[in-house]
Amino acid sequence: MNSPTTDTIIVGAGPIGLEMAVALKEAHVDYLQFDAGQIGQTISWYPQQTQFFSSPDRISLCGVPLHTPDQNKATGEQYLAYLRSLVEQFDLKVKTYEPVTQLSKKDDLFHVITSKGNYTSKHLILTIGDMHKPRMLGVPGEKLPHVSHYFEEPHRYFQQRLLVVGGKNSAVEAALRCQRAGAIVSISYRQDQFNERSIKYWLKPEIDWLIQTQKITFYPSSTVTEITPMHVQLQTTEGAAKVPADFVLLMTGYEMDPFLLKQAGVLLHGKNQAPEVDFNTMQTQVPGLFVAGTAAAGTQIRFRLFIENSHSHVVKILRTIAGCDPKHINPLAYTRLNENPIEEDLKTER
Ligand code: NAP
Repeated sequence: MNSPTTDTIIVGAGPIGLEMAVALKEAHVDYLQFDAGQIGQTISWYPQQTQFFSSPDRISLCGVPLHTPDQNKATGEQYLAYLRSLVEQFDLKVKTYEPVTQLSKKDDLFHVITSKGNYTSKHLILTIGDMHKPRMLGVPGEKLPHVSHYFEEPHRYFQQRLLVVGGKNSAVEAALRCQRAGAIVSISYRQDQFNERSIKYWLKPEIDWLIQTQKITFYPSSTVTEITPMHVQLQTTEGAAKVPADFVLLMTGYEMDPFLLKQAGVLLHGKNQAPEVDFNTMQTQVPGLFVAGTAAAGTQIRFRLFIENSHSHVVKILRTIAGCDPKHINPLAYTRLNENPIEEDLKTER
């Protein structure tokens, strides 16, 4: 049976995937869009009421203003509502809950197999994000029911002993929110102190103060060696420590799943597994295959690509595929056209 052929297939329906879809639609390019889950899937597992670090104007899409009730930064919930409105406003047809299971290129066409069908296209755009799975510690007990890599909300930790592992934004935000929500919080970090360049400037004094005043217990230079239902075993510079814990939050970051990139034959570089991308066009070394959004940096160890500096990817890809500019795009796109935020990282890693 012949697969339906379209000009372009987009895989992924996060913010940049949706902005790409609007650009293609308005340029009258025939396209299909798939997502393994719901639109904005990654944002849907942000902790409840988490505010974006970027201001609303920087993460708004397709020139559609993003208003918040208090003129502050948008929460994950507000942004998801915005994404739903955008899909309705531009009447996008996203094939959600339809994961792509196989990708190949033959006779100048991409062959895309999903959980529900087979499709072919001339161009393929991967807007798959960079946070598919948690970075595992690989220690005994990591999969126990009171241990999680996802901080969903603080209420469940009220008057509970919570050990947070990690030392960047997720770990510090989780520790602060849970302490304020009445949890008895400890933090284990593998470095001897928090780095002010790695966490937001307003979080650092707050966490330092709570540690100084012993409202949060800090285990610097410590690594987790085992988690049991009652304790977490730490190795510190001073020896082993057995920390009682009712709950454990492993805020150790997330990794991209390079499966689709590998299947499509895209070269991956360095520790980040960054795809080979020409930042003038966002095309990979596989002709017709583009990567947009944070996936263009692979798993980010130093974070360089965000929503706010990825709008330009949409312009570059549309120019290459359709020879025109998007009708509606975040205006920041045009201020970032000549940037390659990961160039220096790649040079040092290769
Ligand atoms: P991250 O920046 O990758 O930090 C991971 C932390 O876990 C680091 O402190 C790292 O230690 C530690 N770690 C990694 N592997 C480890 C291991 N094997 N054993 C022990 N510790 C380990 O992840 P994140 O904090 O989840 O942040 C991810 C992204 O989300 C960032 O861009 C961040 O800014 C963003 N974020 C946004 C918000 C918001 O918008 N409100 C909130 C939170 C996070 P080292 O420091 O030694 O590398």
